[in-house]
Amino acid sequence: MGRIHTLPMSVVNRIAAGEVVERPASVVKELLENALDAGPSRVAVTLEQGGVGLVRVVDDGAGIDAEDLPLAVSPHATSKLRVAEDLERIGTLGFRGEALASISEVARVVIRSRTPEAAHGARLEVDAGVMGEVAPEGCPVGTSVEVHQLFSKVPARRAFLRAPATEWSHASEAFVRTALAHQAVAMTLDHNGRRVHDLPGADRWRTRIGDLFGTALAARLIEVEASDDLVSVQGLVGRPEDDMAGTKLQHLFVSGRPFRDRSILHAVQEGYRGVLLTGRQPIVFLRFEIPPDFVDVNVHPAKMEVRFRDPSRLYRLVLSALRTKFLTLDLRAPLTPPTADVGRGAHVPQAWPGAGAHGGATEQTMQSPAAPEGRSYAEPAVAWGGGPSLPPWKPQTPLSPPRATGTLQLPGWEEETVGAPTGRMVERAVQMHDRYIVVESPEGIEVIDQHALHERVLYEQFKGAIAAGSLEVQPLLIPERLDLPPADLEMVTEHAEALVSAGLRVEPFGGSTVIVTAKPVLAGGAAAADLLREVIGRIAALGSAVSPGAGAGRPASSMLVDEVLHGMACKAAIKAGDPLSQAEVDALVRDRRRVTDAHHCPHGRPTSLTLSRQELDRQFRRT
Ligand code: ADP
Ligand code: MG
Repeated sequence: MGRIHTLPMSVVNRIAAGEVVERPASVVKELLENALDAGPSRVAVTLEQGGVGLVRVVDDGAGIDAEDLPLAVSPHATSKLRVAEDLERIGTLGFRGEALASISEVARVVIRSRTPEAAHGARLEVDAGVMGEVAPEGCPVGTSVEVHQLFSKVPARRAFLRAPATEWSHASEAFVRTALAHQAVAMTLDHNGRRVHDLPGADRWRTRIGDLFGTALAARLIEVEASDDLVSVQGLVGRPEDDMAGTKLQHLFVSGRPFRDRSILHAVQEGYRGVLLTGRQPIVFLRFEIPPDFVDVNVHPAKMEVRFRDPSRLYRLVLSALRTKFLTLDLRAPLTPPTADVGRGAHVPQAWPGAGAHGGATEQTMQSPAAPEGRSYAEPAVAWGGGPSLPPWKPQTPLSPPRATGTLQLPGWEEETVGAPTGRMVERAVQMHDRYIVVESPEGIEVIDQHALHERVLYEQFKGAIAAGSLEVQPLLIPERLDLPPADLEMVTEHAEALVSAGLRVEPFGGSTVIVTAKPVLAGGAAAADLLREVIGRIAALGSAVSPGAGAGRPASSMLVDEVLHGMACKAAIKAGDPLSQAEVDALVRDRRRVTDAHHCPHGRPTSLTLSRQELDRQFRRT
């Protein structure tokens, strides 16, 4: 008697479900793909309890014939492929014909659909693999798919679901990725009765990116492109100074499909080499156009990974797209003043006349009332490839201008005369290449990384001020607005207290918008919105670094405040490339002596290298 037998279909489906449906985010992704394959102009996504309670996706696309409804939820049934050769040129997002079948196996699914030709719609319900009858139902043209109580009858899977907040953050990410790939379709996302995203159909990718991540961020992105005879890449990338702590704003797409690819991201890193600090991540949105037979999307059940026939070709292309751009740009003349993040259609007082989120600045000289640090905007406006034309600003230095007495005061420090008799040799210091400071000291010669040192100094000042209870906070005349993706919004709400104790006051402003109403004086001229964005990136990175456990990945509050301070110090510090006046150089060198661990910046990178006198003497054979 043989022991091998063919598995019943329900078991096959449940196994497939294990691959396709991991969590609510997978349901969102599959249903969205189906909706988009139907050629809609609008798609509405509704979630409850992070998608565990309900995921509903409604589109106004082609609809499903009533007689096809049972097939739609059957395994290996699809309208998108007929013969094996079709797999070589997939033009739709779906093709495996197993998403609806898999989902129906592990949840209660209700489909309502109507084609334009049909007089009325039809409804079909499947509960954990048990299919009901197709029944007529009045409904608009298009399809609505509801997935109720995911895994409620599969305890083993349900046990793996995380807290609704975590599931929600994954699900909304899935929405965001898909929304990025399909800018022309109007899309909404609702969670627990609250509208989280309302994205009108957009012509330009920049507009969709702005609607998702904030128009100020989008306006600063640089257009890149490159192509060879076969493939092309086109996209929007961040300026080096808009760097991030994590990779959340790195998005790759091929044929309307988000994908991950280590090799391409490596090419991105290479492209930014030299203009980005080590450990920092650039913002990149890249789209590839590749002939269908050069890319295999059928290598991953959830279609998250794709395989290219000639990966090194893409690598070279990405590298050249970025390199060409960075070689022709003067990256030291930033594009916009640190303006408030101006949301779509909302009225926000403009600190920079004519320099709104969509640019069009005409004034050649602008002195901002909100920039007391004495930045001036007296350079001619530049236009980036196709982007809006906005005025550049002078070097980003939060150091105050030197005063007539020859002393310099970093915010938060009491005054001290440079070169006052200290009983020791006065250090002579010179800035080189706008990024290093070379100091003559009794011990020898030191080369200091100006950004790393200033970051360390600021960090210590922050810590000292907080310990002494004397952190000065500056209320903002014009609060800065920031549109946040849902996960970030939740994070900011959750950690508002830690932010306040670090001097950053953030308040909800309705929808996905927050306003920053105060920032620490120590942060100098850094834009409050930039500070917050940086801090969010770091908290997120911290959250994922902390092992999940009792606190569900929540970092301890002291660690959190510390990370916030690191983030603000990093953003507020002078950058490599900022020219400094002699007084500023002297002040920095002087402040170095006051910080406890001046030889390492807060990340542990060295801030200085020393060539000892003995070593020099030895090299020149003077001993
Ligand atoms: P696939 O998308 O791989 O074909 P699915 O199980 O996701 O497999 O869907 C099965 C079929 O159901 C699709 O091929 C399509 O014909 C139909 N279908 C599913 N969702 C929709 C929708 N929103 N609009 C129109 N047809 C749909
Ligand atoms: Mg599908």
